[in-house]
Amino acid sequence: STMPPLLSAIANAGRHGVLAKSAVVMERLGQVDAAVLDKTGTLTEGTPRVTDARPLPGAGLTDDTLLALAAAAEHASEHPLARAVVDAARVRRLPLPRALDFASVPGQGVSATIGGHAVRVGSPARLLPEPGAGVRDLVEELEGAGRTAVLVLRDGLPAGVIGIADRLRPDAAATVTALTELTGRTPALLTGDNERAARHLADQVGITDVRAGLLPQDKVAAVREWEAEGRRVLVVGDGVNDAPALAAAHTGIAMGKAGSDLALETADAVVVRDELATIPKVVALSRAARRLVV
Ligand code: ADP
Ligand code: MG
Repeated sequence: STMPPLLSAIANAGRHGVLAKSAVVMERLGQVDAAVLDKTGTLTEGTPRVTDARPLPGAGLTDDTLLALAAAAEHASEHPLARAVVDAARVRRLPLPRALDFASVPGQGVSATIGGHAVRVGSPARLLPEPGAGVRDLVEELEGAGRTAVLVLRDGLPAGVIGIADRLRPDAAATVTALTELTGRTPALLTGDNERAARHLADQVGITDVRAGLLPQDKVAAVREWEAEGRRVLVVGDGVNDAPALAAAHTGIAMGKAGSDLALETADAVVVRDELATIPKVVALSRAARRLVV
């Protein structure tokens, strides 16, 4: 073709299913020498499903009323865990109570006023740092099985725990291997989720550097730390919680299909075909194009 190498690399990347927002991005992609991957929605399919709804004894709730309460609070959230909760309530045809004053805290959860009660749904570690034995045992049981435990608080008191399971993407392990070969380093996993679930998943793809329980700004700090060591860090993420790290990265790539609007806007490139394995392919393409340019 008569196209300049960089343009043809962009076109090629597009054919592979990665949309680079500019020629500069395509060039920078080839420079990365470290990668960090988000867990939920990035290494996993991002379509998690509710496996358990466990009201706490004394909360006066059934499995269904716990799920309905959580779904009402999560209704306006675009987080994959929120969608799992809302879908489960819909499948069970549960009527949802009305939620007012919805607010979401990235990396933590949501809050709303429901039937006059202050309801919060989210990370057990963030919402209830010092749980009683009832909550602790339930959370450990679910996380030990590789699930994400989501706590439901009503007026500050634990009402129940919801277990949610997500599947690893089929191309996750191959992507980690390919990025390791390209950058000379095994990628790290950065997640807001709990350490147990994160390790469970990391073990399956060959990642050993796992940082769990991170807030969005903690993900930025990790990227900055590596960049201060001279690494050019590729960040791959999908969530609102990943947006600051995508912005801080040398190059940020968002997973397009289920990615949040903010992540898509912030990233330098977007995976539109929903295949993780396209990422190492476009890094290699960019390097090949650079070799032709210089
Ligand atoms: P990840 O980094 O793996 O994509 P997030 O940072 O989005 O995860 O979320 C971190 C944790 O915060 C989740 O594992 C969950 O415990 C909690 N969380 C965040 N948003 C929500 C929500 N809308 N509903 C329930 N839990 C949430
Ligand atoms: Mg995510």
